[in-house]
Amino acid sequence: MPTSDQAICLRASDYSETSQVIALLTRESGLVRLMAKGTKRPKSKSGGRVDLMAEGGCVYSAGRRESLGTLIEFAETISHSDLRRDLRRLNAALFMIELAGALLAEQDPHPEVFDLLHNALARLAQADASPAAVGAYFHFRLLRHAGLLGDLAACANCGRPPGIRDVYFAGALGGLLCRACEPAQAEKLAVSRAALSGLAALAAAEAGERPKLPDPQARAATALLVYHTEYQLGRRLKTARYVAG
Ligand SMILES: [Zn+2]
Repeated sequence: MPTSDQAICLRASDYSETSQVIALLTRESGLVRLMAKGTKRPKSKSGGRVDLMAEGGCVYSAGRRESLGTLIEFAETISHSDLRRDLRRLNAALFMIELAGALLAEQDPHPEVFDLLHNALARLAQADASPAAVGAYFHFRLLRHAGLLGDLAACANCGRPPGIRDVYFAGALGGLLCRACEPAQAEKLAVSRAALSGLAALAAAEAGERPKLPDPQARAATALLVYHTEYQLGRRLKTARYVAG
């Protein structure tokens, strides 16, 4: 039975002269990998070539186990072509879709992450939005949803407030370490004041407040979240160097 859903295209690569292999983040079924036959033909029945970041309604047949499913139709509603005209916005968007594709497992539904990405891409297109802040907030919330980021108001080892000096972050613990606990931990990253302020603002935003998140703090927090994400994945993120630090 074909499935209808809303989707955002996270990866698209050419498979042949006329076909693509795509990864869609669907709202109800999470990440699905599909063969999109004939989408590159000029008058394709399935709705034409599917571009990275494109959002729309999709109809597909899911693949069994490890095999690719089949795209039946993709009706694009938002192309995000406006983001392609501004390099900082484009880099933030590419970073967010790489993160979603890297951290979500296939066919593991996360409607909240779909909504988060949809809203973040829409927010990025607004003139008053800071690409660094939008990207940092998405990254923070995505790690939370994936269960990879703990409570940052307490030391991950002793539970006391971590303080503001000589604070470290441990990827293995998914949290901060206070100065008393950090010497015993080999894998760790020193956390700057800017990163701590950025993380505090992201946690406040998650709690529904509207904190200020200046770009230097957003970029410092992003560098820490990139360190953690790469530690968890065991590999580098391709687009991180355009947004962090
Ligand atoms: Zn401690």
